[in-house]
Amino acid sequence: MARLSRRDFLATAALGAAMGVRPAFASTDKRPNILFIFSDDHAQQAISAYGSKINKTPNIDRIAGQGAIFQRNTCCNSICAPSRAAVLTGKHSHANGLRTNLDVFDGAQTTFPKLLQAAGYDTALVGKWHLKSDPTGFSYWDILPNQGNYYNPDFLNSGGKRRIEGYVTDIITDLSLAWLDQGRDATKPFLLMCQHKAPHREWAPGPKHLTMYDDVTIPEPPTLFDDYAHRAPVLAENEAMIARHMTYDMDLKLPGLGIPDALGRDMKSQETPRMTPAQKAQWDAAYNPKNEAFLKKRPQGDDLVRWKYQRYIKDYLRCIASVDDNVGRMLAYLDEKGLAENTIVIYASDQGFYLGEHGLYDKRWMYSESLAMPMVMRWPGQVKPGTRIERLTQNIDFAPTFLEASGLTPPPEMQGRSMLPLLRGDTPTDWRDAIYYHYYETGEHHVPRHEGVSTERHKLIHYYEVDQWELFDLEKDPQEMRSVYDDPAYADTLAAMKKKLEALKAQYSVPGAKMQG
Ligand code: CA
Repeated sequence: MARLSRRDFLATAALGAAMGVRPAFASTDKRPNILFIFSDDHAQQAISAYGSKINKTPNIDRIAGQGAIFQRNTCCNSICAPSRAAVLTGKHSHANGLRTNLDVFDGAQTTFPKLLQAAGYDTALVGKWHLKSDPTGFSYWDILPNQGNYYNPDFLNSGGKRRIEGYVTDIITDLSLAWLDQGRDATKPFLLMCQHKAPHREWAPGPKHLTMYDDVTIPEPPTLFDDYAHRAPVLAENEAMIARHMTYDMDLKLPGLGIPDALGRDMKSQETPRMTPAQKAQWDAAYNPKNEAFLKKRPQGDDLVRWKYQRYIKDYLRCIASVDDNVGRMLAYLDEKGLAENTIVIYASDQGFYLGEHGLYDKRWMYSESLAMPMVMRWPGQVKPGTRIERLTQNIDFAPTFLEASGLTPPPEMQGRSMLPLLRGDTPTDWRDAIYYHYYETGEHHVPRHEGVSTERHKLIHYYEVDQWELFDLEKDPQEMRSVYDDPAYADTLAAMKKKLEALKAQYSVPGAKMQG
């Protein structure tokens, strides 16, 4: 069947009606398309719709402004692969079997793309996958092997691996648009998961943004020089400090210094060796003058931390500028082809990230900046523009939401809950008043395993391997700088939060949960 734009389709339909002929497209599936744009490590603090003080993201903001923004959306396990598995399955990590980045996803289990495919959707996945096993439930997939690369990335599909010259965020968008335009079966509604590598470490900006922010100083977060007092002792033992655990060659784009980080590491860039001579020349033209200025000044102490923060945050934001541009390309395509009206568009990221808060980069901890997960969603005619959702939502809710939006009933095994009532402005009286969190990985960045519970007002964290606890009053201490776990004034709150944690563990059948009476 020839593909028609919506305008053509409407014209054909009108003509058919005038002639008393039932148009060939009258039975065309009216279920909404779903465009799921997902990035990696993009924190809410770097999205202007969430009030960013450090950058602008006009295209992501457009999705939020024309639809809904989730103000209290969180991940259940703040790291790449586990968050992706939770999105696909609607289940917590212990239930979908993918607890850490080292686990292999069991592709035989139920996922929302599989259910949509079985119900007649054409389904595709492009970009970062990171779940080790081959994707299942997609008629087309074209993924980055493992973490993938920013420059001239390799892509893997059912036909094998090949290298594509260019910048990864542009290429993922190109492949996504090509599938929308020529690849899909236009007689079916589609699910397209367009999943970016950016802005993951090593934060290598694309050619278009190499000198963006050169002439400005990005504001520092107030907790950049956190001394880690009044929190669990494990926090001070972290290995993700901007001051101590960034490497010059890879993270700070300053090769050749030979100065190791506090752990004795001198990690090399995985990107500069992949560049073509022209790309490398452009890169050097952007970084060499900045590096020469650094070497001339050689800042020390707090000034060196400030310099590292500026280098880090600017590269991170440059990567995001490309993501936002490419979100704009996707939105423009939907407009141009008349697809915008019947397509749900989501922009989300797998978790948040520390942008210098607590002196950190990276994620994993249950503190708000990496627990929070950006989520904006546009659905014309169904979700009122400017909708702000303040209730507690989580990545396990995504799958049931997409299924219900497509007219399917989420299977009872899914632990999340459809957010459609919230999107339509209702607040079910039995909506959750707390979320459960569990981080399992050990190793990199020295973050101990922990679990916890958060309500809108309080957060309880248990580092169970070392039996350390934290309790935060999020209203009085939104930056989580002082645990009140030992404060007698919070004894009742602590008891209630511990009870809530056990109740959630029982509800989600977390191994080791106590039976509830
Ligand atoms: Ca991630």
